[in-house]
Amino acid sequence: MKSAIYPGTFDPMTYGHLDIIKRAANIFDELIVGVLDNKEKTPLFSVDVRVNILKEATKDLPNVKVESFGGLLSDYCKSKGIFVVVRGLRAVTDFEYELQMSQINRKLSDNKLDTVYFNTSLKYSYLSSSSVKQIAQFGGDLTDFVPGFVADMLLEKFDQKN
Ligand code: ADP
Repeated sequence: MKSAIYPGTFDPMTYGHLDIIKRAANIFDELIVGVLDNKEKTPLFSVDVRVNILKEATKDLPNVKVESFGGLLSDYCKSKGIFVVVRGLRAVTDFEYELQMSQINRKLSDNKLDTVYFNTSLKYSYLSSSSVKQIAQFGGDLTDFVPGFVADMLLEKFDQKN
């Protein structure tokens, strides 16, 4: 069985992420979406909430599993016996960082981990979790960016903050 992992912060998941998940799930037998529990970042949503959003959004995709992980991606992959990492590329600006990460992961895994990139679908090429949070902060329309239940969670979060 060919498994891959799609790691990320997903704070929160957008339609851009979901598009990559669906396309990768069509290619691999099993796709694990790995939600990074990074103690150095202060995400808007807790890791449990980010995992639950992804579980809800992917509930109709039987070969997609959502899990959280901490520490090094290469260690997590080793513990699961997975050697393919999926990442998305929006623009050239993503490329430099992604290339560096993939080379580090390869080095840390004794050249076992490979990274596969999916080009963004054009309609999501401008979409990022940060821009979604900015729009939500000012009460903008999120219809084309995140599922309705995520938009509600974002607006509620910023209502509490204001
Ligand atoms: P990071 O993991 O760098 O903290 P994210 O959790 O936002 O960032 O994204 C996880 C992965 O999804 C990254 O590879 C990122 O480039 C990709 N991604 C984010 N938004 C999009 C999008 N709109 N289209 C395609 N790929 C995307």
